[in-house]
Amino acid sequence: MFNLAEERPFHLQINIAATIAVLVLVFGRLIRQETGEFGTVSHIASVLPLGVCWAMLNRTRRDVTFRIFGALSILSCAMAFRIFLDKLGTHGDYWRFFVVALILVHAAVLFSRIGDYVATALLCGAISFIGLPGDYFAATGHAEFAIASGTAAVIGVMLNIIVMSSYRKLFEAKEKYKRLSGTDPLTRLLNRRAFLARFSEVQEERGQQALQLAMIDLDHFKQINDHYGHDRGDTVLMAMAQCLQRHAPGLAGRLGGEEFAVLFPGCGRNEAMQQLDMLLREVRGLDIDGVSITFSAGLVAAEAGESAEEALTRADRALYQAKAAGRNRIICGEMPSLAGENGLRPLPILPAFAE
Ligand code: GH3
Ligand code: MG
Ligand code: MG
Repeated sequence: MFNLAEERPFHLQINIAATIAVLVLVFGRLIRQETGEFGTVSHIASVLPLGVCWAMLNRTRRDVTFRIFGALSILSCAMAFRIFLDKLGTHGDYWRFFVVALILVHAAVLFSRIGDYVATALLCGAISFIGLPGDYFAATGHAEFAIASGTAAVIGVMLNIIVMSSYRKLFEAKEKYKRLSGTDPLTRLLNRRAFLARFSEVQEERGQQALQLAMIDLDHFKQINDHYGHDRGDTVLMAMAQCLQRHAPGLAGRLGGEEFAVLFPGCGRNEAMQQLDMLLREVRGLDIDGVSITFSAGLVAAEAGESAEEALTRADRALYQAKAAGRNRIICGEMPSLAGENGLRPLPILPAFAE
């Protein structure tokens, strides 16, 4: 989901920084020159809320906080100028419309929802104009005031729509690129890099609990290629990937060639073993354009803090043992803390999972 606070386009940052600078400068300068009686306290009181809002906007990555402080910053900006322009008297009236239009145009890049922008713009208008003596509007001309306000509103809304839709498009393109760069083009499973990242994410969610990880390698796959051709080999890989996706959606990856890896979050060793066993039975039963396949797998429990590479190395050793023991089976590796020098104890082949 598009989140402006998360995306924080570069030009938004520039905009925020420039606005603070301009406000402080304009306020500081005008107050000193024009309104001796305005005083330091009023100056600080009108700029401080604005500073707090901008600080929040710059820090937060939460959509709701960004929306609230985005609106508050515009409203405190309007309030600060209202106090200041009122102090300037007739002189301030010349500035009033121009200042409000400037605030609203600037606000257009702060709101990802048009409703938020319109509501804030209306409140900003109310803060800036309500309570002014009738002769202010008479001097401007009622019709002219209405036309100018309408024009400013249309420009603001159009700007908001244009800027936000370009941000959205940029965000979608980025998401698409991220997805593609983490997807194996043949099988549509996670590629190695994305799988490693997924491992870290799931491991973080699991906290101190071990995470079951299996490495899977198709048996005698080269023979399938040699016998039936590379295209059929690809079809087999895709069929295998579909099985994995059904059993563990979003948790399986293709590490390369005919090697895959799967995570079993929330599963103990026995449960993971049962799931892998179900997968192996299903794969054995596949008829892929007349080709049948089996796989060998090594299952390990990755401890909290163990890296994906380390856990995969252990799983690979268990997988190697499964191959050495005759393929078409699953072998469990030991926990790293229990492991011998080569990372594995001599392992029994679990009869229930061997053919
Ligand atoms: P083992 O049972 O010991 O795993 O033997 P194997 O034949 O499965 O393993 P080996 O490593 O000897 O062969 C793997 C083959 O996978 C060799 C390579 O040409 C093939 N391969 C790698 N990537 C692809 C691919 O994307 N498509 C196809 N069709 N074949 C691939
Ligand atoms: Mg193989
Ligand atoms: Mg292999």
